[in-house]
Amino acid sequence: MKVLVVNCGSSSLKYQLIETKTSEVLAKGLVERIGLGEVEYSFTHGQKPKTKIGIQAKNHTEALKEVLGKLVSPDHGVLTSLDEIGAIGHRVVHGGESFYHSALITDEVIKAIEANGELAPLHNPPNLQGILACKEVLPSKKQVAVFDTAFHQTMPERSYMYALPYEYYEKYKIRRYGFHGTSHRYVAMKAAEFLGKPLESINLITCHLGNGSSITAIAGGKSMDTSMGFTPLEGVVMGTRSGSLDPAVLLYIMEKENLTPKQMSDLLNKKSGILGLSGISNDMREINDAADKGNHRAKLTLEVLVHSIRRYIGGYMVELGRVDAIVFTAGIGENDWVVREMCMANMENWGFVLDKEKNRTTRGTLTDISLSSSKGKILVVPTNEELMIALETQWVLEGKE
Ligand code: AMP
Repeated sequence: MKVLVVNCGSSSLKYQLIETKTSEVLAKGLVERIGLGEVEYSFTHGQKPKTKIGIQAKNHTEALKEVLGKLVSPDHGVLTSLDEIGAIGHRVVHGGESFYHSALITDEVIKAIEANGELAPLHNPPNLQGILACKEVLPSKKQVAVFDTAFHQTMPERSYMYALPYEYYEKYKIRRYGFHGTSHRYVAMKAAEFLGKPLESINLITCHLGNGSSITAIAGGKSMDTSMGFTPLEGVVMGTRSGSLDPAVLLYIMEKENLTPKQMSDLLNKKSGILGLSGISNDMREINDAADKGNHRAKLTLEVLVHSIRRYIGGYMVELGRVDAIVFTAGIGENDWVVREMCMANMENWGFVLDKEKNRTTRGTLTDISLSSSKGKILVVPTNEELMIALETQWVLEGKE
């Protein structure tokens, strides 16, 4: 089935047209600055080189019309007719407590996405705009919402509740939700396939380490705990996000610097993490280069980042009891051998022994980077969230979970 995967931001529309039978990406593109005057549209359709053009699009509906036009155009088309699109899959950030699985989009589902908008005010409204645009332009197509949070809805209460007065959970649904669910599920499936074992029979710790990062404990294919929380700010140190810290720190800084909640939020989300600590960049490539040259703050940043990751890995080992594999994915997890080597140091007693040579040469390919003597496997598994959305879309239409 050909699935159009759509991911809408406040002024952007990202898409991939995927043939699920072969996992082939037939076309992909990005429309940026929607509604902001000069709208930029870059796309790669079929085997043709990347093309960048300026278009007119006052809103997501107009942007979508341009995209659909290009998918069937004589010069850049990959389809003879839009009838070839079997379904549309949408990335939706927050499903709250309403969605354990991806869902066929109905009026009720739209209402629930709207209601969960309070939990993700920057993401759910534009995600919904994309859904409504598709409804308007392609009313006969089946649409599916694939939620970043849904995979983590299997977490037990003890993992997702914060020790705040219970009334805040009841009043505002304050609890841990977790994110990157599509990625954690995808790499878990791929890891099981690679190990030649049913996903239901293995326990995994999946480390999605990118600009945003999260770590998940997965037992028998179900998320048992995850490092991101009520928002994607909790957990390990990230590109520009602080990750977990003593909540008293923010109260103290707010008081000392006279900051509003919005200013504090910017500080924690945009100016902290790898960028804030290093003062160099949010990109690990630059941190590694600076650390190699002896820059103290770059070295410190690496150490603090790895320390935060290892705390979760250790905690989840204890929670899971037995871990068959630790999986590294996303920009840092797939490419940064230094971070992987530091994360896996001195874990022999826990049954994990890294093949240092293999680790150094592995980049972006599905590889077992543990020694054959290692009881637990250490895997690099490239993530593919768009493909997962396409597959989940197809499964929903076929009545599978
Ligand atoms: P993502 O959010 O998954 O796209 O990951 C983006 C991040 O991955 C970048 O900000 C970098 O920190 C990191 N990254 C990408 N490529 C490399 C690389 N070759 N070596 C180290 N880090 C990398």
